[in-house]
Amino acid sequence: MSHPLSTRLVLWYARHQRQLPWRKTRDPYHIWVAEIMLQQTQVETVIPYYERWLKRFPTVARLASAPLAEVLTNWEGLGYYARARNLHQAAQIVVEQWGGQVPRTLADLRTLPGIGTYTAGAIASIAFGLDAAALDGNLKRVLARLFDVRQDVKSAEGEKALRRLAESLVPPGQAGEYNQALMDLGATICTPRTPRCEACPVQSLCRAYRLGVQLERPVSRRRAPIPHRQAAAGVIRKNGRILLVQRPSEQLLGGLWAFPQAPRRARESFAAGLARAAREELGLGIAVLSEIHRQAQTFSHFRLTLHVFECRWQNGKASGANCRWVRISALDDYPMGKADRQIARRLRAP
Ligand code: SF4
Repeated sequence: MSHPLSTRLVLWYARHQRQLPWRKTRDPYHIWVAEIMLQQTQVETVIPYYERWLKRFPTVARLASAPLAEVLTNWEGLGYYARARNLHQAAQIVVEQWGGQVPRTLADLRTLPGIGTYTAGAIASIAFGLDAAALDGNLKRVLARLFDVRQDVKSAEGEKALRRLAESLVPPGQAGEYNQALMDLGATICTPRTPRCEACPVQSLCRAYRLGVQLERPVSRRRAPIPHRQAAAGVIRKNGRILLVQRPSEQLLGGLWAFPQAPRRARESFAAGLARAAREELGLGIAVLSEIHRQAQTFSHFRLTLHVFECRWQNGKASGANCRWVRISALDDYPMGKADRQIARRLRAP
């Protein structure tokens, strides 16, 4: 029998669910794409990417056979590019090992790159109707409030308590609706800073509301402030072309193209660091001219300020497979991270 909370949530979802493009389908590949895009990214941002993606890669097989550069180009702007690389690799595994059919069990889904416990639960419950919970940060917040969970939700014991709760509440045969109801409740009513308890369909069952502690739940360790790094980037020009380098696939923004960068070393100016890195890493002699732009970007675990310098090639080849001399008009053909794309746009501006 279902828990009264699940019953009420599923009824509320039937009447008030958000109309989202991935809710019009049971195609497991489409639901998988949406779930990967929604990790770390807001719904409104995801919608146009999701729709474009499925026009370009409507099936697992089409995605698997596409070159990585095209996959990254279609992901450009969504950030966290490991998601795109994993999705591409996982699509190839699905084609090679599963005959193009997305695997149907939690254990099999979790063998695919980029699919963790949450995403496996979401795909299994929404696409295949399995009785699986899907517990992400939003759902943890909602459950911590509903059941007044006092453990730190980021601790192992807090995580375990919430998982037990989430699993015990799954209504048999309705896990997809239940998980999505919790997602919608967390996104539209039980929001992080200002929960709208007056509009909440499960207010009478909420322990944190009853105790007046909803703003104190979930309990969470204070996050340490993220470090601020500084680096130089060079717009190195040679005969009307500009040098781009492709980032190694195992690194941050792997597979994307970038203007050559040099992290700042102690007692070294940005300009000197850039000239040194060009010499040591690319075998190039360059003249570093003036700083033309400063670009700030926030990643999940650090902030970066990029000091962008105009540079002139002097000698050397930089001819490796990961180096290209590119005309300004062709910069759009190369998938880039946000900061590099901003620099490229400035170069193209009249
Ligand atoms: Fe969240 Fe308030 Fe609803 Fe409790 S009553 S689940 S705190 S919105």
